[in-house]
Amino acid sequence: MKRRDFLKDTPLAGVGLTVAAALTACETGSENQIDTAVGSTEKRAEGPIVIATWNVPESVEIAGKMLADGKKALESAIEGVAYEEANEENTTVGKGGAPDRDGTVTLDACVMNSDGNCGAVLAVENITHVAALARKVMEETPHVMLSGKGAELFAYDQGFPKENLLTEASKKAWENWKTKSEYKPVINVENHDTIGMLCMDSDGDIAGVCTTSGAAYKMKGRIGDSPIIGSGLFIDNEVGGAVATGLGEEVVKTVGSFLVVELMRNGKSPQEACEEAIRRIVAKGDRYKEFQVGYVAINKAGEVGAYAIHEGFSYTKYQNGENTNTPSGFYAK
Ligand code: ASP
Repeated sequence: MKRRDFLKDTPLAGVGLTVAAALTACETGSENQIDTAVGSTEKRAEGPIVIATWNVPESVEIAGKMLADGKKALESAIEGVAYEEANEENTTVGKGGAPDRDGTVTLDACVMNSDGNCGAVLAVENITHVAALARKVMEETPHVMLSGKGAELFAYDQGFPKENLLTEASKKAWENWKTKSEYKPVINVENHDTIGMLCMDSDGDIAGVCTTSGAAYKMKGRIGDSPIIGSGLFIDNEVGGAVATGLGEEVVKTVGSFLVVELMRNGKSPQEACEEAIRRIVAKGDRYKEFQVGYVAINKAGEVGAYAIHEGFSYTKYQNGENTNTPSGFYAK
């Protein structure tokens, strides 16, 4: 019996599996690597596959075509989301994103690759392609996260252009918002939202990206889940990946994307894992009625899942040249 199968059948199966795997490896001395893929599916998909939050057909097609050309998962995902980052009509990502309540557009993004490396930028002004910038943090610095002015100066150093992110339309909407007194996120008012994208390349490697302008009219300095590795995005190339969208504060409280991946590691399908992660949020009381959270996930078998608290969330998938947008299941009936 393979060690992985043996462990699946022990009472330790579940939460403590990775610890059990580590102990077994240490005790027997038979392996010098900790098996972190315990419980994940043995099936391996043939890439390429792209999935993304919301309805972003152009973005997934760009990424899907790059993957079909043999490009790796991370570069394809970054190019895919770059389309929406530059799309001024999209008021939740990149240029044209809604500003904070002081009228400044600040962007957040993170990336994670199949080696388990990651990078993030937080509250960046004047830079459109923050997913690409997050990759530069990962590759060109000894750090994982850069924020604010530091991230912006690093961007110029890396050759990113300075751009005005506040469009006339976003400015008008903000001025209109200022005439109302209350700050309250509205469920699904967004046409597009945070773009989280997961790519599996033709080697079967998974990487992901999450990019956003964050909650519209947020307090200055507010950071949501999107640039936080484990909350907005998490990848474990032995298991799969997950990304989140919706009210970031609620995703952070349950470390949502990491949770989805860990649930898959312990045997759940991507769909079951997304559903369980949403249940963890709604189990905290009735507040979920006031906000939206959605997850999408993929595992190494190429199975995908998506689930949200409320109706209105969808995900876009590109595989074998086919581009589909599918409404996710949802909790609140
Ligand atoms: N998750 C993002 C945030 O909280 C916003 C969103 O997805 O709408 O910043």
